[in-house]
Amino acid sequence: MASDRFSSLPISRAQLVNLESLGYKKMTAVQAQSLPHVLEGRDIIAQAKTGSGKTAAFGIGLLHQINPKFFGIQALVLCPTRELADQVGKELRRLARNTANIKLVLLCGGKPFSPQKASLGHGAHIVVGTPGRIQDHLRKGTLRLDGLKTLVLDEADRMLDMGFSEVMARIIAQTPKTRQTLLFSATYPEPIKRMCRSVQRNPVTVTTESAHKPGVIEELFYQVKRHERNNTLLALFEHYQPDTALLFCHTKKQCDEVASFLRERQIEALAIHGDLDQRKRDQVLVRFANNSCSVLVATDVAARGLDIKSLQAVINYELPRDPEIYVHRIGRTGRAGKKGIALSIFTESEQVRVNAIGQFQNKPAIYDVHESLDRRPGFSLRSPMVTIQIDAGRKNKIRPGDLLGALTGDAGLPGSRIGKIDIFDQSSYIAIERRSVRKVLSYLANGKVKGRSVRGRKI
Ligand code: AMP
Repeated sequence: MASDRFSSLPISRAQLVNLESLGYKKMTAVQAQSLPHVLEGRDIIAQAKTGSGKTAAFGIGLLHQINPKFFGIQALVLCPTRELADQVGKELRRLARNTANIKLVLLCGGKPFSPQKASLGHGAHIVVGTPGRIQDHLRKGTLRLDGLKTLVLDEADRMLDMGFSEVMARIIAQTPKTRQTLLFSATYPEPIKRMCRSVQRNPVTVTTESAHKPGVIEELFYQVKRHERNNTLLALFEHYQPDTALLFCHTKKQCDEVASFLRERQIEALAIHGDLDQRKRDQVLVRFANNSCSVLVATDVAARGLDIKSLQAVINYELPRDPEIYVHRIGRTGRAGKKGIALSIFTESEQVRVNAIGQFQNKPAIYDVHESLDRRPGFSLRSPMVTIQIDAGRKNKIRPGDLLGALTGDAGLPGSRIGKIDIFDQSSYIAIERRSVRKVLSYLANGKVKGRSVRGRKI
């Protein structure tokens, strides 16, 4: 077992002092296992997700390599989304606090091009950004990567899922072959393996989360005949009565079908998958996060970007082929010190998948029989809150306080009946306790928010 003290690493005194001032007392698992190799200049494949301390695992390494006197891009971090790039940029800046004159530039889409070009023109050492915009800069000659020492592919699986594979290959082709390549990914499916083979040299593999803490997630497997899947699913809800659940299906069509099946049986469920447009996707996520939808039915790809704090249950409507994906799926429950339950439905032909999961987790699968589940006829699962959409948002200068003020002041609603408020560019979403929905809608039909009439509707 590697030491978990930062002082065991060959890094500068200034960085050790900085880490201490950041309150990083000891290394996280992914840091302890990767940093010694990263600092030796090795390529690594690390399986780690947000929250594991992965940014510092590559950040401390890439900063160690940078020569501040040479104004050329020496490190490039590719991220799937602007949000992640922002987050990574912030953490790298914190890590670079005690190192003089290190310049970092964020290059993400959706932002004006010229200021980015100007920042690059002034000379920079580190670029963090999304593949599309980085490729634009390379094409226009505003970015050069021929002096690159470290390349980081952050959330590589998500970048592939988002269709960045070719763009990434083109970017990588413009970096020196001598570079160090650090790849971080929450999962390790075949396309990622292929990518590692083509862009890395003799990488060290770091795995820190193949198994969840014992006893935190109760896992049960239910064998059914193909036609019994839906009925068993219903029985699982009736028996376990989870307040919140994430349900996994293989295909988009299946997600839609299962969600409508549940809704017909009074279980409030919404499907989320790649066919939804951004607005619909935002609405589903808002409703799930603000307690106005209890069950989300998702594909693996759609679930990957979800920022879900803790769920009572994860249900596999079908089992994935890859046991690692199973482990990743069920890791959505049993978080934040709470217990979770993972329920999997499988047919005889999927028995091999259950076996593979048992082997992968190094523990036998526990089977239960669906006939023994307590059925509760008339059971329904209704969320405590309802979401109201208002047709005014950030562009209309609406802030959460404006909505809260209008509803608690003019409409006379107690603040305790109002839940999460989410403001988007063109619209806002406000969670209201079910019993007060009518009152809020009738207020919005006549009243005003920030001096302006708005329209509100239940979604
Ligand atoms: P990340 O997984 O990189 O998004 O990091 C998650 C959070 O953990 C960030 O807020 C970091 O600032 C913090 N963090 C990273 N490494 C450590 C550490 N060794 N000790 C305490 N906090 C850390």
